Amino acid sequence: ASRVAEPAVAVDELVSNVPTQLLIDGKFVDPVAGRRFDVLNPATEQRLVQMAEADKEDVERAVRAARKAFDEGPWPRMGGKARGKILQRFAELVEKNVEELAQLESLDNGKPIFFSRNADIPLTANHLSYFAGWADKIHGQTIPCDNTFGNFFAYTLHEPIGVVGSIIPWNFPALMAAWKIAPALAAGNCVVLKPAEQTPLTAMRLGQLALEAGLPPGVLNVVPGFGPSAGGAIVRSPLVDKVSFTGSTEVGKIIMKEAAATVKPVGLELGGKSPLIVWKDVDVDKAVEDAHFALFFNHGQCCVAGSRLFVHEAIYDEFVEKAAARAKSKKVGDPFTDVEQGPQVDRDQMDKILGYIESGKQQGAKLLAGGSRMGDRGYFVQPTVFADVQDDMKIAQEEIFGPVQSILKFSSLEEVAQRANNNPYGLGAGVFARDVDVINYLTRSIRAGTVWVNCYNVFDDSVPFGGYKQSGIGRDKGEAALAHYTQVKSVYQKMETPQP
Ligand code: ADP
Repeated sequence: ASRVAEPAVAVDELVSNVPTQLLIDGKFVDPVAGRRFDVLNPATEQRLVQMAEADKEDVERAVRAARKAFDEGPWPRMGGKARGKILQRFAELVEKNVEELAQLESLDNGKPIFFSRNADIPLTANHLSYFAGWADKIHGQTIPCDNTFGNFFAYTLHEPIGVVGSIIPWNFPALMAAWKIAPALAAGNCVVLKPAEQTPLTAMRLGQLALEAGLPPGVLNVVPGFGPSAGGAIVRSPLVDKVSFTGSTEVGKIIMKEAAATVKPVGLELGGKSPLIVWKDVDVDKAVEDAHFALFFNHGQCCVAGSRLFVHEAIYDEFVEKAAARAKSKKVGDPFTDVEQGPQVDRDQMDKILGYIESGKQQGAKLLAGGSRMGDRGYFVQPTVFADVQDDMKIAQEEIFGPVQSILKFSSLEEVAQRANNNPYGLGAGVFARDVDVINYLTRSIRAGTVWVNCYNVFDDSVPFGGYKQSGIGRDKGEAALAHYTQVKSVYQKMETPQP
């Protein structure tokens, strides 16, 4: 495993292009209290920028700007085609700046540049482009009404909700911004976006590119800051009509509770503890590799990480041995070199993961690879594999959000279906099998918003994504997302017999 020197990019030059003020009403402005917070490079623990910190007053200012843009501005009133054109231009600007945005993402988040360049940023552009295409295809129904009191018909208008507050996490900073703002803007809403405090850089650049694309002032406001203060102010504001959130289940519950005060609808994409079931008829080498990707992708910092890996007893011993060998061969280090894994996003996350690893050791899971921090600079954690994990262990129940694979043994189909569902989460799941009856049985039995069959971590713009159970409310992506950013108005109209 390699170690980190200085990133192989011109850091100062790169970050000097990033706006470090708040984006409110089409302008970059200083926060009222003038406070700033340090944004760190997780690979070196060095400061990248001092970012403006939005507090309650700043959020209120941003919300008022969004309110004005929605109530009086052109955005919700212009045709869908015109909105779509601006969003498409926005997508093209992201594409044009893919290298710069990818480098910023890797500096800020720590993910290998290969993924930022080939996944995160191109997917961000695609998502904007996908919803640009929806902007002129949002419409309702015409409904005939039989009624004894006369002749009527009704039609429905799918109107934007108004001001949407979006609060996003740090694991896919640019892409999560796109998942929230693209459908909201396509439908004609105005947005106040709060990026995660760990990773605000690409969101600030996206805000700038949106202005360059011609988004009117106030339509997209970006307010970096902390959760309870800046995020909380969005949730509590009576001028915000809807909150869409991606993050932990713990914070999701707080948001839902606070949103209740103003009967605000909430879209919540929360945590997971996704079961991945490997049946006995698979090609073991391929299944090991795919299961490895299911868990270790993005350093395990995925809400759908295949973190409960159930392997059939007939192939268990071989599988476990190969899974451990694969983890040991993983290249970890400087995200700007040819590695598969960079640092975790911050010290808190690293410490939390190391705590889970300790609990796995103490509760008697069999440690086969990794098991500790890597080096003493940067937030690196060794790719870790536990076998013989039992359902009641902490590492099998709680979301670790790190590079820790937990392997559990099973013997029958009914048993594994029951155990897979025995968890409060229901976000992702995987089935690796050849027998189509086994595949159909499991895909129908598992209570989760997404099931991957003989693949994992596939995300298409047009396929809905969201959680069952305590993994959330609502769906991101696809046509399904539009329903969460529009509200239906029913108009009744009387039909009279025309006067001759
Ligand atoms: P994680 O545990 O993955 O960091 P969080 O759920 O804590 O995820 O954070 C996701 C987002 O929610 C971040 O933008 C964070 O600032 C924000 N957040 C955290 N606490 C609150 C809160 N009480 N109210 C609103 N937003 C919050």
